[in-house]
Amino acid sequence: MNYLSTRGQSPKLPFLQILLGGLAPDGGLYLPERYPQFSGAELEFMRDMDYRQLAFTLLSRLIDDIEPDDLRALIDQTYTTQTYSHGRSDSDFSQITPLRRLEDGLFLLELSNGPTLAFKDMAMQLLGNLFEYALEQAGQDINILGATSGDTGSAAEYAMRGKHKVRVFMLSPLHGMTRFQQAQMYSLTDANIHNIAIRGVFDDCQDIVKSVSGDLAYKAKYRIGAVNSINWARVAAQVVYYFKAYFAVTSGEGQPVDFSVPSGNFGNVCAGHIARMMGLPIRKLIVATNENDVLDEFFRTGVYRPRKSAETLHTSSPSMDISKASNFERFIFDLVGRDGAVVSELWRAVENGESFDLNASGQFGRVPEFGFVSGSSSHADRLATIRMAWEKYATMLDTHTADGLKVGLEHREVGVPLVCLETALPAKFEDTIVEALGRKPERPPGLANIEALPQRFEVMDADAATVMAYVAKYADD
Ligand SMILES: *Cc1c(COP(=O)(O)O)cnc(C)c1O
Repeated sequence: MNYLSTRGQSPKLPFLQILLGGLAPDGGLYLPERYPQFSGAELEFMRDMDYRQLAFTLLSRLIDDIEPDDLRALIDQTYTTQTYSHGRSDSDFSQITPLRRLEDGLFLLELSNGPTLAFKDMAMQLLGNLFEYALEQAGQDINILGATSGDTGSAAEYAMRGKHKVRVFMLSPLHGMTRFQQAQMYSLTDANIHNIAIRGVFDDCQDIVKSVSGDLAYKAKYRIGAVNSINWARVAAQVVYYFKAYFAVTSGEGQPVDFSVPSGNFGNVCAGHIARMMGLPIRKLIVATNENDVLDEFFRTGVYRPRKSAETLHTSSPSMDISKASNFERFIFDLVGRDGAVVSELWRAVENGESFDLNASGQFGRVPEFGFVSGSSSHADRLATIRMAWEKYATMLDTHTADGLKVGLEHREVGVPLVCLETALPAKFEDTIVEALGRKPERPPGLANIEALPQRFEVMDADAATVMAYVAKYADD
């Protein structure tokens, strides 16, 4: 299987050659040149597989330059009950992504039982093992530089801690994450993990990463890499749980299912799109946004209008506070008939801070063929949904998942099971839970006192040169 770029101007490459990189050389995102197909008897044959078998069956069709035995071992080592058992005490962790029934036809897919209590652990843990394997094979090492407002950075650090040939340098705003999120990251003491707290906001952190990425000589010399949400392996790993959930809520061939997905950078729901393109009978993919509704606006109007970072609102579902959705280009590539020239043209506008409109070309009219619908949620909706789920289903939801349930219910149809993806546990967003319910969420065992653990982080000014000097000092450790 080879991977092509959504801009159509880069050579096709096999999986291992795109694993460690970010964007394709032409600025596009990688996608498989065709989607492997699963249908009928072949799909039914997968129904009783456990998570690891299912992951191997799907991923081995997307990754054919890793020996099957090695790929299987990497998957088996990643998706263990032990790694994914940090959630509610009554969950069936042996399922890796347990399904919780809220009422007839309405389900919560638990994706947040990994070490950092957010769904990003589902893909990032596999990425950690794939990176270590690929670097070992190639005799290389890598220095991962990233910026985080919370969930991505901690998922990356927990996935990469103690890995050979990988060091992580993670920038975070000194103030701006919850105390729990800070404690989660800063309490890691592994030698290959470097937490850098920047005197500034998240955008300052991201600007530093961008400016380092622009310095090609520095990047090459210090082998700088990334683990951001456009990484293809992350999207691929997320395809698996759509299949797992599908089999858990259906009993026979061809039954349709709807999925509701709290969305920011469009990575998670993009995996749903790909699962659907691979033949999974998904009827609707419901894109739920918060007040930062750039995606909802597109799916309602056909106009994609990326916001400036100054226009990005800070909300109580902070992991969805985005101004543009980095993975969205992957879907648009499929929507416009996989024409790289069209995508290049559209993203020339986006990169100039302009919007694009797919009405006149008729391309917006094709969106229903891909099952997408959308909606948005506000702080008041979030609080009301958290209360409703607590009272009606005795289930405590985090703020992002509440956005997903709120929008999902607006699109629910009788007779079609609706699966809402749980993207974080409430323990991560304690203050808003207290605001909604007047009580604190339960902490998974072992994390009760995480704020009291000793912390290790460096504080720096928002200055690229200072960060570059620090990375250079530890890049060969
Ligand atoms: C990252 C994240 C999201 C958004 O996921 P995307 O793949 O960026 O759309 C939603 N909820 C939580 C809790 C997250 O951490």
